[in-house]
Amino acid sequence: MKWSWKIGKLAGIEVRVHATFFLLVTWVAWGNYATQGSVQAALAGVTFIALLFGIVVLHELGHALTARRFGVATRDITLLPIGGVARLERMPDNPRHELAVAVAGPGVNVVLAAGLAIAGLLLGTDIRPSASTENLVAQLLWINVALATFNMLPAFPLDGGRALRALLAMRMPDVRATEVAARLGQALAVVLGIAGLFGNVVLLLIAVFIWMGARAEAHAAQLKDAMSGLSAGQAAVRELHVLSPDDRASTAVEYALHGFQRDFPVLEHGRVAGVLSHRALLSALSEDGRDFRIGTLMEPHPTTVPSSMGLSKALEALQEAPCRCVLVVDSDELVGMLTIDAVGELIAVREAVRKHEGPFVSAMARRAAARTEH
Ligand SMILES: [Zn+2]
Repeated sequence: MKWSWKIGKLAGIEVRVHATFFLLVTWVAWGNYATQGSVQAALAGVTFIALLFGIVVLHELGHALTARRFGVATRDITLLPIGGVARLERMPDNPRHELAVAVAGPGVNVVLAAGLAIAGLLLGTDIRPSASTENLVAQLLWINVALATFNMLPAFPLDGGRALRALLAMRMPDVRATEVAARLGQALAVVLGIAGLFGNVVLLLIAVFIWMGARAEAHAAQLKDAMSGLSAGQAAVRELHVLSPDDRASTAVEYALHGFQRDFPVLEHGRVAGVLSHRALLSALSEDGRDFRIGTLMEPHPTTVPSSMGLSKALEALQEAPCRCVLVVDSDELVGMLTIDAVGELIAVREAVRKHEGPFVSAMARRAAARTEH
């Protein structure tokens, strides 16, 4: 996440703090100082925030370590003023695993609350919600109860919404389950937002966070659904200009100026030898390199995927490819090239056909279908 700093590692997972988190700490410290007039009060406020976020880190670790059991790694855990985010590499495909990962976070809070309740009883301290604010055990106990309850609200992307989605996905298609969970999330966001309008800024922020999160999840599910059943070969652009290592940069310039192609596969004896990226071509031209050999300008180890690879997997490779293009091959022979534009176009056309938007789109769809059925 941008604007965040690493503060340490737990169980091999990086823990980061977002810049805006320091605003919260400053705000609490200043607020305590202003109302109680002492540095101790300010420090007590900061200590309390630190404990609170220690609990949030444990909650996120609950998710991360459960995911690890199902073979899913966690990129990092980031602390934000409104809570923590564990960035899992992906969600487990099995709904039962997804359910376990979702409830593991609030589960940690339940265990902590139970532990604090036992500690309070053993110490003979008052652990009722009405206990004084000086009573740290009671404070932390009820914070854990609140965190478990809030996170289990059935609002996507909160843990409760994710658990609900997993339960639905055991009974209906994946994309439909996400849609239902996302709609519920947005409905709850509206309720929270209206409540927040009556003076609770934090609630308003949480409502916005849930609304946007639910929309993003629904969108990602639709995209995944649109790509399902498609292979890299079906989405690849096949009408391509290709270059040979002995060609000159001026040849690529001709192609680039009179067509839409930005990156060019380079073939030698019919085999992929490299790719000439748009960026490499431009930087050669800035050095007056119209006569440069393509062989010296090309990237000799381009990202390639087999044409049978699923499109969503190929898209992951595309997002990490340095030239923003991936060569699609069939046992070392070039089949075509995959670009973000080509995938976007194919998905847009497929979606439009599903919605039956008229003769013009159908004609476009037939063209796209012809492309996919090569
Ligand atoms: Zn959680």
